[in-house]
Amino acid sequence: MNLTNRSVVVVKKEMTFLEKLYLPAILGGMWITIRHLFKKKATVNYPEEKRPMSKTFRGHHVLKLDEQGRERCTACGLCAVACPAEAITMVSAERKPGEEHLYREEKYASVYEINMLRCIFCGDCEEACPKEAIFLTDRLVDADYKRGTFVYGKDKLTEKPDKPIDVSPRQTKEVLEFKKNKKFAHNN
Ligand code: SF4
Ligand code: SF4
Repeated sequence: MNLTNRSVVVVKKEMTFLEKLYLPAILGGMWITIRHLFKKKATVNYPEEKRPMSKTFRGHHVLKLDEQGRERCTACGLCAVACPAEAITMVSAERKPGEEHLYREEKYASVYEINMLRCIFCGDCEEACPKEAIFLTDRLVDADYKRGTFVYGKDKLTEKPDKPIDVSPRQTKEVLEFKKNKKFAHNN
């Protein structure tokens, strides 16, 4: 019984003289190749050439500093709790007197790690953060051959004071409205 009407009966018939020559088939194949040479390419020469990305693309995270160059993260752990992939781990530490220029809050993350092989770039950590400390950016996670190199620590995640990372393209009107909504107790 046929489930669809697309089935074709295969007939094993003798090859004609032309088919036995193979030349028409070879020329036909070459004609298809030549036609493709003049068509618009479907591929790009990455990484020299890059395709435009959506402004809401979620890639490599950044741990933001405040206007005075201090770490915003207070090691509250909400991002780790919100993470569905359990990709975030951290160790918290108390800020010592004299370290106020380094850490904005009394508690900070002495260790903060994201396993980029586990991360699914959902953005839940960004939404959960009450300190505007973590954002996803349009940067790509670099490829590598070793699994260990994909555990990104503060050295790779924290932005440099002299090279701030602009996260505004991802802060669309809808995202900002969500963050301002007190119903979700976000960034109070
Ligand atoms: S983007 Fe999602 S999966 Fe990745 S670390 Fe954040 S919460 Fe976890
Ligand atoms: S939710 Fe924000 S402040 Fe809390 S640990 Fe994560 S990045 Fe730091």
